[in-house]
Amino acid sequence: MLQLWSELPGLERLDTGVALTFDDGPDADATPEILDVLEAERVTATFFMVGEQVEAHPDIAREVVARGHAVQAHCWDHTAHPQVTDPAADLWHTIEAIFKATGVAPTHQRAPYGRFTPASHEACVTAGLQPVYWSAWGEDWEDIGSDRIADFVTRDLSDGLVILLHDSARYAHRPSARATAAAIPPIAAALAEACLPTKAISSAPG
Ligand SMILES: [Zn+2]
Repeated sequence: MLQLWSELPGLERLDTGVALTFDDGPDADATPEILDVLEAERVTATFFMVGEQVEAHPDIAREVVARGHAVQAHCWDHTAHPQVTDPAADLWHTIEAIFKATGVAPTHQRAPYGRFTPASHEACVTAGLQPVYWSAWGEDWEDIGSDRIADFVTRDLSDGLVILLHDSARYAHRPSARATAAAIPPIAAALAEACLPTKAISSAPG
């Protein structure tokens, strides 16, 4: 896996600023709460959405855009890429669901579990999207408390971090993603203390 990671290039860090990213939604369980907390903390984030979740919750997907966040592509139904027989079709299905619900055309993709295959990486690049990984995470796919999620994220803060979090527990080992919402205020406080501004991952310059 580590070998694939290095052989299949993608965005792991930003030039400047820190990106808070949320995978696996939109989901009624925690996405609305996460949007409220982000607004209260004045943080603009990036949501890597799952096509089947967008189709099930188009209103929440639209709300993410209405609150000023970036929307990007994760996958259709969270099948690991080695098991996806037609990665280009999987990606286009996802892009179309996001565009139909939100009017946003994704410019970046993160693969489920951060693992592209050579074929899915090529499909991503051929579709004009930039592959994205991460450089910090909250381990919030496990059933842990918000304090531990915040500790994982903030223990080694630096400029350029791409932070992986999840706004849905649907493909994880925990019953709810609400602990992630509760972890955002301490993460935002630590970023502010370190004078690290947050920014979204989008095609916009800068
Ligand atoms: Zn995921």
